[in-house]
Amino acid sequence: MKTALIGKTIRQIEILQPKSLNVPEEIFIKSLTGAAIRDVTSHGKWIFVETDKGWLLLNLGMGGEILLTACDNLPEKRRLSFRFDDDTCLAVNFWWFGYVHFAQSDKLHEHKMTAKLGPQAIDITADDIRQIIAGRRARVKSFLLDQSSIAGIGNAYVHDILFLSRLHPLRTLNTLSEMDVENLVEAIHAGLQPSIDKGGAFYEVNLYGEKGGFTMEDILVGYKEGQPCPQCLTKITKIKTGSTSSFICPRCQPLDVEP
Ligand SMILES: [Zn+2]
Repeated sequence: MKTALIGKTIRQIEILQPKSLNVPEEIFIKSLTGAAIRDVTSHGKWIFVETDKGWLLLNLGMGGEILLTACDNLPEKRRLSFRFDDDTCLAVNFWWFGYVHFAQSDKLHEHKMTAKLGPQAIDITADDIRQIIAGRRARVKSFLLDQSSIAGIGNAYVHDILFLSRLHPLRTLNTLSEMDVENLVEAIHAGLQPSIDKGGAFYEVNLYGEKGGFTMEDILVGYKEGQPCPQCLTKITKIKTGSTSSFICPRCQPLDVEP
């Protein structure tokens, strides 16, 4: 998006799902029509489109597509679209529910959902983690998924991140040793980078509709109940962890550890 969208100006906005907006439809349209795109960045699951008239903030929720197409070729499945001055269109779709928010140029810090995001997962350091977990007793899995602690880890990747760090999802943060923290940082990077390198997961597409190359074969233990652990060949098990399920190797990721 950064490469493709910088320099384009929004001419027209079509909104098919007003409830994904944070401001009334008229204000959203008035604010961003005529806006020239200056930059596109991301933090966690949010995409920040900076324009000369304010910020367009996108979050696909459980997933979705953002497609750059010819305007006469807009996908049927879309929640909103932007027509640019060069007659290309950007279509945004959510599989379930997502956010399309506007923030004034100088008011980004007042946008609560992005202002409270923790450090970016892919750049996180052991020092960051030590600071964030100090004095906390949360379970390590819920900590990893809590976007205000660390931004950018989703369900699809959390199982392998925990496996790579040899941590049981229900371990509490106060039981993590210095070595556990070091392992966790490495595991976060090792758990996210392959999918980034391969252009995302096989059920996702890029700006041009091309599928990602990260497949089930690249996944180590996630969603692989009954299959052998790639490390020790013990059967991977699916366990209940609070309201969610987790996939673990019971041998590589013991819950009870020597203090
Ligand atoms: Zn194992």
